Amino acid sequence: MSSIEEIQQQPWDYLVVGTGVGGATLGHALAKAGRKVLFLEKGRVPFLHVDTLQGAYPEMHFPRVDVPTAARHASFLAQAGRCHDEFLDGLRSFIPFIGCGAGGSSALYGMAMERFFPADFEPQQHFPNSSGSSLPHAWPIRYADLVPYYQRAEKLYRVRGQYDPLRPQAPDLLPPPSLSPRNAELYSHFQGQGLHPYQLPQACEFVPGCECCQGYLCAKNCKNDAGRICLEPAVRDLGAAVLDECEVIQLEATSDRVTGVVCRWQGRTVTLRGDQVILAAGALMTPGLLLRSTSVHWPQGLANASGLVGRNLMRHYVDLYLVFTRARGENRLKELGLSDFYQFQGNKLGTLQSFGLLPPAPVLAATMAKDVCDAAPWATPLFRLAQPLLRLLLTRLFKRGVLLAAIMEDLPYADNRVVPGSPPRIDYRIHLHDQTRLKVFRTRVAKALKPYRFLALHQAEKNSMLAHVCGTCRFGEDPENSVLDPFNRAHGIQNLYVVDSSFFPSSGGTNPALTIAANALRVAEHLLTPGGLISDKPNTQTHQPRSMPMTETTSRIQRHSLLRMTLHTEISIDASPKQIWGVLTDFPGYQFWNQSIPHAEGEAKAGTLLRVVIQWPGLKSSPYELEILDALPERELRWLGHFGKTGLMDGDHRFVLEPTVEGRTKVIQSEYFSGLLVPFFAPWLKKNVLSGFEQMNVALKNRVESATPAQCRDTP
Ligand SMILES: Cc1cc2nc3c(=O)[nH]c(=O)nc-3n(C[C@H](O)[C@H](O)[C@H](O)COP(=O)(O)OP(=O)(O)OC[C@H]3O[C@@H](n4cnc5c(N)ncnc54)[C@H](O)[C@@H]3O)c2cc1C
Repeated sequence: MSSIEEIQQQPWDYLVVGTGVGGATLGHALAKAGRKVLFLEKGRVPFLHVDTLQGAYPEMHFPRVDVPTAARHASFLAQAGRCHDEFLDGLRSFIPFIGCGAGGSSALYGMAMERFFPADFEPQQHFPNSSGSSLPHAWPIRYADLVPYYQRAEKLYRVRGQYDPLRPQAPDLLPPPSLSPRNAELYSHFQGQGLHPYQLPQACEFVPGCECCQGYLCAKNCKNDAGRICLEPAVRDLGAAVLDECEVIQLEATSDRVTGVVCRWQGRTVTLRGDQVILAAGALMTPGLLLRSTSVHWPQGLANASGLVGRNLMRHYVDLYLVFTRARGENRLKELGLSDFYQFQGNKLGTLQSFGLLPPAPVLAATMAKDVCDAAPWATPLFRLAQPLLRLLLTRLFKRGVLLAAIMEDLPYADNRVVPGSPPRIDYRIHLHDQTRLKVFRTRVAKALKPYRFLALHQAEKNSMLAHVCGTCRFGEDPENSVLDPFNRAHGIQNLYVVDSSFFPSSGGTNPALTIAANALRVAEHLLTPGGLISDKPNTQTHQPRSMPMTETTSRIQRHSLLRMTLHTEISIDASPKQIWGVLTDFPGYQFWNQSIPHAEGEAKAGTLLRVVIQWPGLKSSPYELEILDALPERELRWLGHFGKTGLMDGDHRFVLEPTVEGRTKVIQSEYFSGLLVPFFAPWLKKNVLSGFEQMNVALKNRVESATPAQCRDTP
């Protein structure tokens, strides 16, 4: 990583605040399209540190995590990707169990990746008696609008699972592992009751020994979270950068643009600038950041002309059921889903699904101690004495059963909100309408579980349960009733988008992560299209080289500003990255296949010079000296060239190799041009140089696919 001064001077297209599902998914899509993306993350990014705590709850390293001692434990929590900020719920202080670090909460999540139902996008009609709530009649987008992005998100996060028979469409998911005996028993039980169980979609690789790792960082590269799936490849392969342990404290803005992002980083206050700012600090933190960003233009807080920033907080009502099955064995994985009660006899409730494992007994006992201490401080010493016995009991109990979670949709109310302060506060109460629904849901779930013995662990009333927090900057058409427009841009601000779960106008009745990811991909596409900011349309027809009938190359031109432009091309090659890397780095061999660079001398080694002759179609050939910036075997070859003096027109050229699930490799060839001459050379770049890239892609494909193994030199 360059120095902070260099980072400050770079012309970032996008500053992305927060690397949770919303921020990392969007940033990854933008970086993949050739944009210059800088992620700013308050927590730690594990691939930049060696002392990450993973594979277990960090509480196992210290006895208690109550607030008076939180400061002492803050560094443990930070090392484990956990939030360590204190919040108030009334007078009671607590530390929300959410993520803070690469991947945000998804680094801790249980990986259930469920789509919302079509009914979730037209919520009001399903709650006829919900007067007092601020449920909108409809989301500004329909289910059908999100379907293509759901599909992409399911692919990106490598979701495995089974078709839920109560849904309108069967998603194309990877196959899940077979059910464990206990869950197979419950599956048959539900079927016997005329219900419709299915294997829960999960973004998990299920490597041998997979523990699901809900609540802590996975140590086995098995959890497909936003850090692993999006942030890491964006930084490692796609030219994005990340500053971690960098807390954004304020946004500077004029009446219609964000002009600076003020951060606290390594004890310094630094201001960063980018063309567009993407806020994705999570539905609990994003409102505070906006409300703190007051100015003469935004006296109530940035983007808060509606007064709705921070309001309509939702969090889902989650109850747990420990079910004692006859079968024994595995009980740690999430395996089952059931949406029979999503819409049930005129009530829209939620979903029942496996929960996986509870935290270990010492952690649970510590949490209970905190509850006891808050509710009846006089009982604390007694409770402490009883703790060893309690731990033993809990351990035995949880071994014997399988846990299910009943997740119920909570409705938005303007008075449920997050209020900034030191510490910040949440005001949340369960309104009567939802209390009634909760009773109905509890009765239904209990009936569905009979005749099993089970223990109902009612958690829904706990306001500190904020894992599914959402709704605090809702999107909508009307600036008076929403904070964001239908493409998640803050009303009235040209270059500020919010893509974490704050944008939800209603909470739906199931897990939120897939909807956050799908929406981020939708917003990315908007940003990359002419109606959004810049052109990203595949223009294969205009630029297909006429003489090559068998091309599958696609291309696009992205105009970032007058002085900056990216040419982006892709081709799919039926070969491994290793084979392609062999041909791409065999520079003397270019003379046999590469018409665009018929001569190249040098080594594929970062920091060295490559001497080439370049011959773009329709232009004169010229010699250049290119500096190799990156040569990551089988992943990326990158060089920098200059037309004339540095700064007149510089070209940052990349080949990125991405293996696909079909066993092919996607080759992305792109070049980012910047400098004073770009506006003058733009017509040639768009026409001749772009068709040179396409010609080179096709020639590379032909060369690799027709090569004998000897021609495809293996890398060491
Ligand atoms: C234990 C647990 C289990 C869960 N299980 C599931 C599940 O199985 N399925 C599901 O769909 N959902 C699940 N969830 C919820 C899901 O993980 C979240 O809804 C989702 O990850 C939220 O993504 P986000 O982008 O909105 O924000 P977040 O994940 O909250 O990410 C926000 C990021 O911004 C960073 N940040 C905050 N403030 C600042 C700042 N000032 N400056 C810079 N960076 C900042 C944070 O550190 C964080 O990394 C679970 C959550 C938890 C905690």
